[in-house]
Amino acid sequence: MADTKLYDILGVGKNASDSEIKKAYYRLAKEYHPDKNPEAGEKFKEISFAYEVLSSSEKRETYDRYGLQGLKEGAGGGSGFGGGLFDDLFGGFFGFPGMGAMSGGRNRRKRGEDTMHPLRVSLEDLYNGKTAKLQLSKTIICKKCNGLGGKQGAMSKCRTCQGRGVKITMRQLGPGMVQQMQSICPECHGEGELINEKDRCKECRGKKVTSETKILEVHVDKGMRDGQKIPFRGEGDQLPDMEPGDVIIVLQQREHDFYSREGNDLFCTYTIGLTEALCGFHFTLKHLDGRDLLIKNPPGGVINPGMIRAVRNEGMPIYRNPFEKGNLYIKFEITFPKQNFIPEDKLKALEALLPARTEVDMLEGDNVEEVNLVDFEDTRSSGRARGEAYDEDDDEDHHGPRVQCAHQ
Ligand SMILES: [Zn+2]
Ligand SMILES: [Zn+2]
Repeated sequence: MADTKLYDILGVGKNASDSEIKKAYYRLAKEYHPDKNPEAGEKFKEISFAYEVLSSSEKRETYDRYGLQGLKEGAGGGSGFGGGLFDDLFGGFFGFPGMGAMSGGRNRRKRGEDTMHPLRVSLEDLYNGKTAKLQLSKTIICKKCNGLGGKQGAMSKCRTCQGRGVKITMRQLGPGMVQQMQSICPECHGEGELINEKDRCKECRGKKVTSETKILEVHVDKGMRDGQKIPFRGEGDQLPDMEPGDVIIVLQQREHDFYSREGNDLFCTYTIGLTEALCGFHFTLKHLDGRDLLIKNPPGGVINPGMIRAVRNEGMPIYRNPFEKGNLYIKFEITFPKQNFIPEDKLKALEALLPARTEVDMLEGDNVEEVNLVDFEDTRSSGRARGEAYDEDDDEDHHGPRVQCAHQ
């Protein structure tokens, strides 16, 4: 495997001459020097590391032949790098898992926990995209004392616990019986160090951290989904000797009154009358971006109850490719006319226009019994009594079965 990472960091080719490497390094070092660019401290270390390797013909040769791993192993032979720096650079920049463990678990900076924040959005927001401002309060390293809690050197060992952070108390339980109890030192709160009252930083009162209100600009992109996570690297709480974790914004979509979403498609239910179902229609649907979609069905195009029709490319925009869209599906429900909506003679006229009835054979004989069609609702009470015969609360329903017996 040809490893070119260090060349990439300096932005030079693998065959770059010593002077090209030197030039590239000076240019980048100037640009990323911590004095000028305090945010880019890590970047500066990377550049310095790359230059350190590539400017030494011996190290460069090892690197060219065996990669970073080779340099690391060369370190044991005395020609390479001391463990600490190498591990920091190695593990930190190049993301090799387990490097710390390989070198016997050097304590690299621990990483703080990620903080999740929900962000409520509407389906319109996910369709159109939006920028939301989220105000968070976070813990930051005190700017006044740079997280020292006081003046440099003002820290001194806690006298109460002798720097151990724990307090041991003895309790006499009875003659010759002593119980030893360990608790966090109340004086230094388990840190083992204290700052004299007068040397304490005024800003953080010696706590090393303060809190700050931070406004995050969250870009909700077109086509993002409910539950999608938007990470803000390193925006978590800052604590002394800790790499801050991430703030992770989790989108939570409010349910929409009319549209529902499945993947990139939108679904809705639209109710039309019987006349529209049989004789064609047009109506408008308000889309999520405010456009009115004119939906048409020509006369003669019959819509059945529950029929689903689709409008292509009117669904949700596709994330990171928002000019492409899913489909919009409209499910039709049909409202039939009310009972006795026209007089009987007019019904005859209507029937003449509708498709012919299905012929039914009228059977006659002893086995034919005429029954009544009644409303479903009217049968509910007796039906329930049969199903829940043991439900003692439903005394009133007891006449139900009796009525049925009378029929026979
Ligand atoms: Zn402070
Ligand atoms: Zn203490």
